[in-house]
Amino acid sequence: MKMDENTQNSHFKLTLGHLYGNLLNTYGDNGNLLMLKYLGEKLGATIKIQLISIDDIFEENAYDLIFFGGGQDYEQRIVSKDIQEKKAAIIRYIENNGVLLAICGGYQLLGHYYIEACDRRVEGIGALDHYTLNQQNHRFIGDVEIISQKTNEHFYGFENHQGRTFLGGGEQPLGIVVKGHGNNGEDKSEGVIYKNVYGSYFHGPLLARNPHLAYQLLSLAIKQKYEGEEIKLPAWKEMKEFIS
Ligand code: GLN
Repeated sequence: MKMDENTQNSHFKLTLGHLYGNLLNTYGDNGNLLMLKYLGEKLGATIKIQLISIDDIFEENAYDLIFFGGGQDYEQRIVSKDIQEKKAAIIRYIENNGVLLAICGGYQLLGHYYIEACDRRVEGIGALDHYTLNQQNHRFIGDVEIISQKTNEHFYGFENHQGRTFLGGGEQPLGIVVKGHGNNGEDKSEGVIYKNVYGSYFHGPLLARNPHLAYQLLSLAIKQKYEGEEIKLPAWKEMKEFIS
């Protein structure tokens, strides 16, 4: 199937929710949304991006894919307070197999808590079972490379975090560290996969450097939304040729 002839998917309409996109958006995290829009349109879908921020209601049925970026501790504290109001709806979204990508600070807040360098505890929502401890006078900064245990794919990115995240029940790492620090610098895990939720410390942005993950998230979102329809998506190989 040629991408420009990809009209049979033109009825696909995806709404991407950008969770706290005006507060948590460091190191070009927003580029992940640009990548999803670009690739989504190549798959034949119409893509709408909607900001969900302080005091907004999280309408769990209104979104087909959620992106939750990273940020500084100051903004994370603000988000930590507000997100408690959205907690129940976000958990329902996740448990109903909603697709979500979270980076760094957003990834930390999906877990139980995040401890700042000054020992202050920032509450997460416990939607996923991980927790994040601190480290004194040190951050993990630099290039990272991981390999997926499931698919053997390599992911490349850049990390900059002081938090050390430890995975819990039902969580699988996104990959095993080949280079860099990953979740905590100890157990070689990086990121998380839980149901259709993907988390990672990769900034950079993650999806522009690892477009196969963008394809996977979009395919999941389309299959989830148009369940019951016969869906014909171009194979990643065809998309790959188109992108490179
Ligand atoms: N503030 C968090 C930390 O330092 C998250 C950082 C980020 O999102 N880049 O661990």
